[in-house]
Amino acid sequence: MSLRPSLLARLAARTAEREQANLRRRLRTIDHVDGPWLELDGKQLLSFCSNDYLGLAQHPQLIAAFKRVADDEGVGSGSAHLICGHRAEHAALEQALAEWTGRERALLFSTGYMANLGVQQALLSDGDVCVQDKLNHACLLDGAKLSGAELKRYPHGDVAGAARQLASRSTAAALLATDGVFSMDGDMAPLRELATLCTREGATLMVDDAHGLGVLGDDGAGSVAAAGLSPREVPVLMATLGKALGCHGAFVAGSAALIEGLLQSARPYIYTTAMPPALAAAALAAVQLARTESWRRERLNSHIERFRQGAAELGLALMPSSTAIQPLLLGDADTALAAAQMLEQHGFLVSAIRPPTVPAGQARLRITLSATHEEEHVDQLLEALAKLPQHGVPAPHV
Ligand SMILES: *Cc1c(COP(=O)(O)O)cnc(C)c1O
Repeated sequence: MSLRPSLLARLAARTAEREQANLRRRLRTIDHVDGPWLELDGKQLLSFCSNDYLGLAQHPQLIAAFKRVADDEGVGSGSAHLICGHRAEHAALEQALAEWTGRERALLFSTGYMANLGVQQALLSDGDVCVQDKLNHACLLDGAKLSGAELKRYPHGDVAGAARQLASRSTAAALLATDGVFSMDGDMAPLRELATLCTREGATLMVDDAHGLGVLGDDGAGSVAAAGLSPREVPVLMATLGKALGCHGAFVAGSAALIEGLLQSARPYIYTTAMPPALAAAALAAVQLARTESWRRERLNSHIERFRQGAAELGLALMPSSTAIQPLLLGDADTALAAAQMLEQHGFLVSAIRPPTVPAGQARLRITLSATHEEEHVDQLLEALAKLPQHGVPAPHV
């Protein structure tokens, strides 16, 4: 008999603990999607939890591009980019993304998660420091942990806190990484102040713009463009294709030297199969639509304004956000779960975000708006929110 603990038993015990704390995550199967409508367990629900902010995921031009390339080239790319998986569709998409974001080159990754692991693994080594906002997306934090660098976090949005963390390792090579738009809070990073700090400290600034690309800036080029920052100030820009662009995958944009370095060194780029070329073609169509159809951003912004105004009239304590992500902080996890269940009974799907995704005591409804919504949908959601027993709690200072 071995004295070794069983890994599977330990995992099962952890799951049971989650269950007991009523924090077990539940996988639900959506049977059909039609714009903002979902079919779930035989019921039609109006969704306020998708990241398809511009309504491109079901756009006929994306579908046509996908089908055209799938007809000619099939489905799988067959290999990693550096073997024989890199096709004309990938090259064209990379060029369009570089041009849109105003950078010399862009490099595709299979997912945003992998892009964040890849960038940090390629740039950072033992002895370096990686300074991050406490509320950065999980994969930015994971990427720093895997890179071997020391991870130092600062309070949310606190530029002075970031400065202290950098100063504590004043001779170490440093990367400062932040979400452009915070995924669970919807607020924006103080990019201009962070850029000034990084310039002064000789640190490299990386922005993860998963929720800004397509949505912010005049032609949707994202939070960095909206802040008027140059490629010199933000040398590493990462964004995803699975949110406002309605596709799947991600990219990093920057100088030709950065991209060549990633291509040589980023293991999550090198050792994985290239995305299907049909997907790259669909994403290229999405970039063109996102850039040119500014009415989608205008419609989204008008929904955001309508929602915030209506919420204020109802006395709902929304978190301070001007983006498509409009969280209603409810505090404890059970309250958030009960609120989501009540909304579902009224025909709305809104996700309750609970620890450990957010800090303990900060469970919330994460409401997302999209250009696919109609004004009346926003009004109907507000009516349902007004019936909640709890109207939100003021945002804490993190
Ligand atoms: C969604 C998200 C990612 C991960 O992107 P995927 O392509 O879904 O893996 C990374 N960063 C942020 C801020 C995100 O919201």
